[in-house]
Amino acid sequence: MKLNPDIRLSILEKTGICSARLSIPEPKVLLSTREVLQMPKEITAGRRTTAYKYYGVSYMQHNLVFINVKKIPNEKALDDTIAHELVHLRFPYLSHGRRFNKLVRQVLRGKTFGPYQKRRT
Ligand SMILES: [Zn+2]
Repeated sequence: MKLNPDIRLSILEKTGICSARLSIPEPKVLLSTREVLQMPKEITAGRRTTAYKYYGVSYMQHNLVFINVKKIPNEKALDDTIAHELVHLRFPYLSHGRRFNKLVRQVLRGKTFGPYQKRRT
C-alpha cells in the first residue's frame, strides 16, 4: 500500500482503537523502513536492517511498532498486522501459534481485554 497522509491517519486511528481494546498504552508507530533506521540503534537493535522483510515488527521493550505499509498488499492485511503487533505488546509472553492468532481475531472483532498484570513471584 502507498504511504500517504490519509493512510497514516487511518493507521494511527486503528492503532488507537486496538490499543484501547487491549488496555495498553498507545505505542509509537513507525510507518516506513526509513523511520526505523532513524530511530536510535539501541531501540531497534536486532530488528533494524531486517525490518523491511516483514509486514510488521514490535519492539516490545520500547512500546514501539513498525507497520511496513509499503509491503502490505491490502486493507485486510493492514488490519491484521496492526492487531498482530499490538497483541505482542499486550501478551509479551505469548509466541506465535493458535492461541495468538485467536487473540488477533478477537481484537479485530472488537473484544476487549483488561490490562496486563505481571505475575507476582
Ligand atoms: Zn509476530
